Amino acid sequence: MKKTVLSITLIILSTFAFSQTKPDISQIDDPKSLPVLFQQSAAEYRALCYQAFNLAELRISCINKRDIKRNHLAIITDLDETILDNSYSEANLIMEGKTYTSAAWKKWTNLSAATAVPGAIDFLKYVHDKGIEIYYISNRKTDELASTLKNLQKLGLPNADEAHTLLYSTESPKEVRRQLVMKDHKVVMLLGDNLNDFAEVFEKKTINQRFQSTDDFRKEWGNKFIVLPNPVYGEWENALYNYDFKLSPEEKKATRLQLLKGY
Ligand SMILES: [Mg+2]
Repeated sequence: MKKTVLSITLIILSTFAFSQTKPDISQIDDPKSLPVLFQQSAAEYRALCYQAFNLAELRISCINKRDIKRNHLAIITDLDETILDNSYSEANLIMEGKTYTSAAWKKWTNLSAATAVPGAIDFLKYVHDKGIEIYYISNRKTDELASTLKNLQKLGLPNADEAHTLLYSTESPKEVRRQLVMKDHKVVMLLGDNLNDFAEVFEKKTINQRFQSTDDFRKEWGNKFIVLPNPVYGEWENALYNYDFKLSPEEKKATRLQLLKGY
């Protein structure tokens, strides 16, 4: 009898534990699953990344040797979804029926397991071989520095050291850190998946303001500014919700539907 009770208890406990870690995947209806699959499974996503880095390399190849020798040239690049592919973290959140938290993000970055965005490694090596320095400016937190450097070094990326990696400390806008690099360097290119990676004017702006500033910079895209695709998250998504991070999934869904433009 005791054995039977124990077995039943164990079955109940293991069923409970299983249901905690493995929600019924057929019941999950997360709007992020499609863009995550675009990043992970669409050859079109890979092609867009190669296109961005091919164009970036073409621009760098036009810089003459004298300019590189005389001036202290540098490029500034973002990390997440520009150089590092973190779609695995997003996929895990969906499969576990969870949403983003800073703890879940840290759990992922602690693994130093991000792969490279297609074309990123070859491009950065090309830039480095030309004698141009690379600065990584990311809004990863400073307590993620060690795991981030480990990840970059695993991928064999040049300038993957503390001096070239400027993470988020107290100031949110990247402009402060960009200015630090610009003090001693002539910055010839910026790369990012988020328009905040290029200019402060994009920070916390409405959809229409973001459009206007993008138009104002129209000559820079594909020239000094190289944009990588990120359909999963970013300031474009925050702008949809007017930077209200407290909206429920239902409120977000309603907002998205209201924003659709039909004919
Ligand atoms: Mg990014």
